Amino acid sequence: MEKRGDHAVVLGASMGGLLAARVLADFYDRVTVVERDRLSADPVDRRGVPQSRLIHAVQARGIQILDELFPGFVDELTAMGVESWEGDLSTLHFAFGGHQTVRSGRAPNLPVILCPSRPVLEWNVRRRVKAITNVVFLEGRDVVGLTATPGRDRVTGAWVTDRASDRKRTLRADLVVDATGRGSRTPVFLEELGYGRPPEDELVGHFACACQLLRIAPGTIEEHLIALSPEPGRPKMFAMRGYEKDTWMVGVGTMAGLEQPSGGADMLRFAADFVPARVLEAIRTAERLGDVVLHHRVPSNRWRRYDKMRRRPDGLLVVGDAVCSFNPIYGRGMTVAAIEATVLRDCLRRGDRSLTRRFFRLSARKVRVAWQTAVGPDLTLPEVVGPRPISMRITNAYLGRVMTVTETDPVVAGQFMRVTSMVDSPIRLLRPSILLRVLQSKRRRRTEAQPVDEGLAGTLVAGCKEVVPQSGRMPAEVAATRGELQRAQSMRWSTQRERSSRNHGHPLKSVTTR
Ligand SMILES: Cc1cc2nc3c(=O)[nH]c(=O)nc-3n(C[C@H](O)[C@H](O)[C@H](O)COP(=O)(O)OP(=O)(O)OC[C@H]3O[C@@H](n4cnc5c(N)ncnc54)[C@H](O)[C@@H]3O)c2cc1C
Repeated sequence: MEKRGDHAVVLGASMGGLLAARVLADFYDRVTVVERDRLSADPVDRRGVPQSRLIHAVQARGIQILDELFPGFVDELTAMGVESWEGDLSTLHFAFGGHQTVRSGRAPNLPVILCPSRPVLEWNVRRRVKAITNVVFLEGRDVVGLTATPGRDRVTGAWVTDRASDRKRTLRADLVVDATGRGSRTPVFLEELGYGRPPEDELVGHFACACQLLRIAPGTIEEHLIALSPEPGRPKMFAMRGYEKDTWMVGVGTMAGLEQPSGGADMLRFAADFVPARVLEAIRTAERLGDVVLHHRVPSNRWRRYDKMRRRPDGLLVVGDAVCSFNPIYGRGMTVAAIEATVLRDCLRRGDRSLTRRFFRLSARKVRVAWQTAVGPDLTLPEVVGPRPISMRITNAYLGRVMTVTETDPVVAGQFMRVTSMVDSPIRLLRPSILLRVLQSKRRRRTEAQPVDEGLAGTLVAGCKEVVPQSGRMPAEVAATRGELQRAQSMRWSTQRERSSRNHGHPLKSVTTR
């Protein structure tokens, strides 16, 4: 493969940094990964990634990319005892916005879904990256600043401090990639260099959660995965996933500032009104592995719009949570980091000219889908404050129907899950075969009477033009529904951003901090 430079430096060795390093190793002679933690040789939690002690699931799209970047990755996870779920709907207890997915039959055409624990997943990725001969890790080092050319038009490296000796040195690089997570200081560095900070989109949801790792005897729980997301009037969630070696992670969470449980017994009380009693009993009698992890908070979905900056220095990219962090309920972050790594690879294949501009523009297109499929469902909760543009309401009237049909139809449920697991674009829910099944459904459930059921808002509207066939006949009802969605096409998510940016102090804000 053609080389793009001598040395690339990656800041942060969590999922975003590791995947960026994997890609960069194909294009640079040397790649250095700088990490503040000392990295254990075993799959254990670490300080720099406190969320790894909490419930995590990587989406099927993320697993596909990992297997592509590291051939044999899925087999290695399986050999470590990571279970896979292959479409048997009876072992899935999945409720999205109050709609319980059908619990019999098989969802056709589903990719393999694996549930490794977060430490096992990250450790496997790290092990594979460490095996790449031109990648080195500098552990126990803090990144404290960026260096730039005298004209400040190009970032030339990073200032790094050794945590043990306090010695500071500069790492020179042709390319610096920031993957230091939500707390990234790149906005500050850019301000110091005279570029100002990137604008931000933000939806405040006040998510908080508590988690407990358990060991449960095989066969006690019939499900492979339980995920009960918040619904209007009940801003509470529950999730339970089987990890390796009969371990299970249980998580309960709240939104909109609702009070969290304060301990193990309280978690059971908290979940008693919406989780089956047999599941709660299995948790009550399980072996506890460590303490309950309490009060982890993610105040908002936040997207730093590097793609919107008028000026940026060359030689600096940002990935992962450092760009966009989501409400964790939707399990988006690691998969978005993986998708960004593929965008980086594709950009580098085309050369390094205008790399910064091309990368931020293309990755923003991918982030937008994940953003809309996280912010949209948050706004289905009346408890979450934020504008709900007409485009979102029209799209979600349809999505309300889709979710109602997932209660009985494995085909629609399978397509819906391909969308939520980020394998397919949301516009696939407008394929004629799915539209017909949705519109022909005789079921009219309580949810249809609800005024707002936003789900995957905006994305469908934005993309519906693409799925309208150029020729052929369409049933009248299908055509009418498509027409309705198309009319909403011009009123896109940007409407929401523009409106909210005029409304300072509103929880969904677009702020330019120059
Ligand atoms: C409760 C919770 C549950 C979640 N569940 C899921 C889920 O189910 N599925 C999913 O896909 N995502 C989930 N996420 C999100 C996921 O954890 C993140 O998206 C993912 O970890 C982002 O990876 P990252 O590499 O961008 O950043 P991070 O994981 O935050 O890592 C940043 C790295 O940079 C290092 N670092 C930071 N500052 C410095 C510095 N100055 N110098 C050197 N090193 C530094 C840190 O030590 C760390 O290693 C969840 C998040 C939370 C909070």
